[in-house]
Amino acid sequence: MIGGSLQRRIFIAVTLMMIPIFALYQVIEVRSDIRAASRHTTEDVQDIAAAALPQLKSALIVGDFAMVQETLDGIMHLGHFRDLQLLDPGGRDVLVAGRASVATQEKGAPHWFAALLDVRFPMQSFPVESGGVVYGVLRVEPAAAFLVDELWERTWAAAVAWIVSLAVFMALLRIILERGLKPIAALAQAAHSLGEGDMGSRVPEGDVPEIAATARAFNRMTNKLAEARGMLEERVRQATHDLQQLIMRIPVGVYKLRISPDDTMHFDFVSPRWLELLELDAAAVRDDPGVVMAQVHPDDADSLRRAFDAVKTSLGDFQWEGRLRDGLRARWIRLEAIPTPLDNGDVLWEGIQYDVTAIKEHEIELDRIAHYDPLTQIPNRALLADRMRQAIAQARRVQTTLAICYLDLDGFKPINDALGHEAGDALLVEIAQRLLATVRGGDTVARIGGDEFVLLLADMDRMEECEKTLGRILAAVSAPALIAGSKVSVSASIGIALYPRDDADPDTLLRHADQAMYQAKQSGRNNYIFFDPNLEDAARRHRDLLQQIENGLAGSQFELFYQPKVNMRLGVVIGFEALVRWRHPERDLLPPQEFLPLIEDDDLIIALGDWVIDHALAQLAQWHRQGLDLSVSVNVAPRHLQQGDFAARLRQRLSMHADAPPHRLEIEIVESAALADTHHIAELIDTCREFGVSFALDDFGTGYSSLSYLKNLPAQTLKIDQSFVRDMLVDANDLAIVEGVIGLTEVFRRQVIAEGVETAEHGTLLLNMGCELAQGFGIARPMPANDVEGWLRKWKPDPAWSATEGFRWPRDDLPLVIAASSHRSWVEQMADFLADGTGECPELDGACCRFGTWYAGNGQRRYGRIPAYAAIAPTHDRIHALGREMVGLLRQGQGETARARLPELFALRDELLSQLHELMRAAATL
Ligand code: C2E
Ligand code: CA
Ligand code: CA
Repeated sequence: MIGGSLQRRIFIAVTLMMIPIFALYQVIEVRSDIRAASRHTTEDVQDIAAAALPQLKSALIVGDFAMVQETLDGIMHLGHFRDLQLLDPGGRDVLVAGRASVATQEKGAPHWFAALLDVRFPMQSFPVESGGVVYGVLRVEPAAAFLVDELWERTWAAAVAWIVSLAVFMALLRIILERGLKPIAALAQAAHSLGEGDMGSRVPEGDVPEIAATARAFNRMTNKLAEARGMLEERVRQATHDLQQLIMRIPVGVYKLRISPDDTMHFDFVSPRWLELLELDAAAVRDDPGVVMAQVHPDDADSLRRAFDAVKTSLGDFQWEGRLRDGLRARWIRLEAIPTPLDNGDVLWEGIQYDVTAIKEHEIELDRIAHYDPLTQIPNRALLADRMRQAIAQARRVQTTLAICYLDLDGFKPINDALGHEAGDALLVEIAQRLLATVRGGDTVARIGGDEFVLLLADMDRMEECEKTLGRILAAVSAPALIAGSKVSVSASIGIALYPRDDADPDTLLRHADQAMYQAKQSGRNNYIFFDPNLEDAARRHRDLLQQIENGLAGSQFELFYQPKVNMRLGVVIGFEALVRWRHPERDLLPPQEFLPLIEDDDLIIALGDWVIDHALAQLAQWHRQGLDLSVSVNVAPRHLQQGDFAARLRQRLSMHADAPPHRLEIEIVESAALADTHHIAELIDTCREFGVSFALDDFGTGYSSLSYLKNLPAQTLKIDQSFVRDMLVDANDLAIVEGVIGLTEVFRRQVIAEGVETAEHGTLLLNMGCELAQGFGIARPMPANDVEGWLRKWKPDPAWSATEGFRWPRDDLPLVIAASSHRSWVEQMADFLADGTGECPELDGACCRFGTWYAGNGQRRYGRIPAYAAIAPTHDRIHALGREMVGLLRQGQGETARARLPELFALRDELLSQLHELMRAAATL
């Protein structure tokens, strides 16, 4: 197609269009000329022939061919003919031919033009006749050359005229176009400037209406654009302003930090809040971006630097939280930023910064709650686990020994029960403080349960040092403390696992220490034991045993033995205490101490207890069916008693044994830490009493809180612990306790029964002190149920008991009993000393032994006037004389001889005791 500028295109198009028009026009013109010329020529030929014929006729008639020639040449000369011939009358032979002049042929149209036109006029023949005689024929062929020439000339002239007019037209067109296109160029220029951002560019409209319309449209458009841009700019200004305001108002600092490749830093922007938080001023930050670092707490500066360096290489998101240096208002801040690399190699950190003090403090508080014991403020179990991992890692790294000490307080619970929880708490806090004071700075003291602590002691490589520390800990714990106005003391049982000797994981180490602690408890408390693998075996044996007991219960391996309880004064059997035995498949009959302590803290004790109650009730029912009005006592373990539904289940059991009267069932409970909630037990006792079942406080006097038990628990009976009863004849303290307990039951209006009555004498003394009920080997050992009937038939109370009928020792005479027991002890001590000479030698001076002191002091004052009193002195003197002699023999190496005289000594003792009895009687009857 046609390309180039608009002008060029128009020019080529017009030219291309003109050429065919011009050619067509010319052809039409030439053809009409040729037609006209042909018509004229025919006429001309006829005219010329008409003019020449008479002359030729004349010449032929005369035969003047020269004349003919001349005529023909003359016609030819006119130039209008190609051929002019005179033929014979037959028209076959040429007689004369006209000769043409040559000159005219020279200048004329080019050949191609003539050839193109190819004009030929028709040949005409005219007979030359006269009078009917034909003399010849004139044949004329007109020539076209002149016509061609003329046509050429005209065509040429026309072509020139066309070209000229075309040129003129073009020139005009160009002028028009140039004027017309000028606004378009301006439009293009304006559009370009607009594109370049010149909002002021406008186009002159010009006088070409169409272009003017376009220019107007363009100008309108640019106006609108400028307006829109103005609006946008205004909006951006407003938004920027709003953002600025926002940045000012929100409690978040905003900053842009630019870091160059050479590591120089520059804050491109910091918001006022940013400066405020860091308590810096803009100028300082501008001058030295490093001042920020100076505001960070020295302990956290490193972490900031590390976080910063890490992001500088990774270009990941930057986040840091840390403290500001002391003295600033905000204590914790958080920094965040997103670094973006710029084209010039700089990195732009755009970030925010805010005060997280409140969150952090809350977090710290939460952390404290999660990791510290709220009572003592020392680490709890969770934090201990952490510390242990660290300590173990540390011990492994520096190859030292870590001691993991599991510490359990001895005797804490009774104090807690007696003095109340607040006092118990205060004691725990005190103990925690003492523990902290005993260990070194890097060591950990954690509380992991009620009265259980764990200590992590590092660098315990030397055993002596470790033992010294543990000794210090024991001493610190057992020192008396003043709590709620009372002086109390506890001790500690500690189990220790040593890492890496015991190369176990933290949980196992703790379990090992716990096992060793358990061992320490078993072996008498207030001591420590190091874990050794045999303990692990013990633990496994424990598990095995539990399993065996469970199997034993299922396999009816347990039995109940029954031990009678009697009223000594009345000489009647009041009932039996059911005592469990285990008929172990591979061992002898096992007493309860062999297995009960192992299941005390296990639900097995409940299963076993239920079994005991069931069987005891069945036995009770049977006795009653046989007409035996006996009662039965069962021992119920603390854990069992604490089951919420104990009363309901007991009642259900009773209803299953309809023949067993509930008021003949007694439940013995021991004073125990596990019965801390006396309130609950009191309710339980009341509930059970409603359906007839009564309660006895067993082993009374052995615990710390017997008195508070007595006060708070509505149990009907107190059972004086056998240890006091058994030893009251030889131990003045025990006697005083027994007497005291009996007195208490009188004050609190409870029934009292003594267990551990091994001899009739125990019984007599008890009767003399006002205790009528008794149980003990002196009456009968526990027996299988089958033996009960036979025993009942045979049994007779000791005759001495009935002799005490109505006789009650005055309290003031008790020292006499104690004096007797002191003397008994003296003789026993002497016997022991003589046996191997290792024990302590009894006081040999009769005036200084306990009996002697009493005799000369209180004894003299109270009984001095009674004759039976004076009778005692010689016996006492003989005894001491014998004692001195025997000790003398022993010291001379004659132990045998000395011991041979023991029966003598015993006889004298008995003599003195019976003299004392005399005195008692005499005193009582005074
Ligand atoms: P306990 O309740 O104080 O029972 C009295 C224990 O003292 C019995 O020992 C009995 O055989 C023994 N005993 C009785 N008279 C004398 C005496 O004159 N001298 C001496 N030295 N001992 C005497 P046993 O049967 O070995 O029971 C020991 C403890 O086992 C009981 O002490 C009781 O606390 C517990 N126990 C026994 N059976 C059961 C039971 O069925 N359930 C529960 N939970 N504990 C039981
Ligand atoms: Ca008992
Ligand atoms: Ca008991």
